[in-house]
Amino acid sequence: MIISMRADATENQIGHICARIREFGYTVHTMPGEKRVVIGAIGSKYVEGTLEALEATPGVEKVVRISAPYKLVSREFRSSPSIVRVAGASFGGSVFPVIAGPCSVESEKQIMETAEGVKASGAMLLRGGAFKPRTSPYEFQGLEVEGLKLLARAGRRTGLGVVTELMSVEQLGVVVEHADMIQIGARNMQNFALLKAVGRQPRPVLLKRGLSATIRELLMSAEYIAAHGNTRIVLCERGIRTFETATRNTCDISAIPVLNELTHLPVILDPSHALGKRDLVPALARAAVAVGADGMIVEVHPRPEEALSDGAQSLTLPQFRAMMRELDPYIRLWAQPRELAASA
Ligand code: PEP
Ligand code: MN
Repeated sequence: MIISMRADATENQIGHICARIREFGYTVHTMPGEKRVVIGAIGSKYVEGTLEALEATPGVEKVVRISAPYKLVSREFRSSPSIVRVAGASFGGSVFPVIAGPCSVESEKQIMETAEGVKASGAMLLRGGAFKPRTSPYEFQGLEVEGLKLLARAGRRTGLGVVTELMSVEQLGVVVEHADMIQIGARNMQNFALLKAVGRQPRPVLLKRGLSATIRELLMSAEYIAAHGNTRIVLCERGIRTFETATRNTCDISAIPVLNELTHLPVILDPSHALGKRDLVPALARAAVAVGADGMIVEVHPRPEEALSDGAQSLTLPQFRAMMRELDPYIRLWAQPRELAASA
């Protein structure tokens, strides 16, 4: 339920309603950034009459039930888009943030060259996997902690915040220490222990859609993170598995407007994993901007032919620069209504 307090509600009345909500067996989530105090009451079962009882409490203006199964991340809970800030970047505002970097951190030279190159072309965050989820146990598994250190060093040297994947709860401490944003990869979208763990820590989370996950399942996974205390979540469409084999996955571009309707969380696109082919990435990047994504994550490698993972879909540095330049007029159009909304 959402409890909107009257504009003139006193501190005492707010304290009292929070206590009442807890008595009814709900947890209290206050919503930041609203003009009046709005409280979310989240619980697994509803007892008849609770709504009326809460609505009759002094200082309360209105109580409504949230019909979506995901509560905290739903548009019903918060009608305005939420902004997630990560190092110098913001998702959900009027700047289009691009996260760029290699699939895997491979060496100091590789990550430094990439960081400098993508920064010069306008990337706002640096990506790089240190713990890699690979289909085959014989493939490169990532440089692990050494990779995290190299990534963090490249981030410090260029002033870019860094994004990296967390694969297990055991690695949480070391990943939090080195990363500005924690990626939960497609294969772990429903690893509920991992979702709870990132919900309990302070870093923002990039939650990627599972290979065969519905939009509702993606939102339920985001809800896990939010319910455990962390609402700094960015969702990512990265293609789903279908019968089509011409591309690595099938980009569900309509997931972006659908998610924009259902959740206040920012939503970005990963055209690299959706396509699997570097030459097609710029076309899908234009689509991301046109359809109203809140940013993008793209794989870039200084020498994709030498990459230890995902070389075929990684842009070269000149290709990344050209794509960013080409996107610029589209992004300016994209920004106009957002700037107007921000100044209204
Ligand atoms: C990645 O970002 O390199 C990655 C493994 O992504 P996904 O989880 O979307 O496959
Ligand atoms: Mn990859």
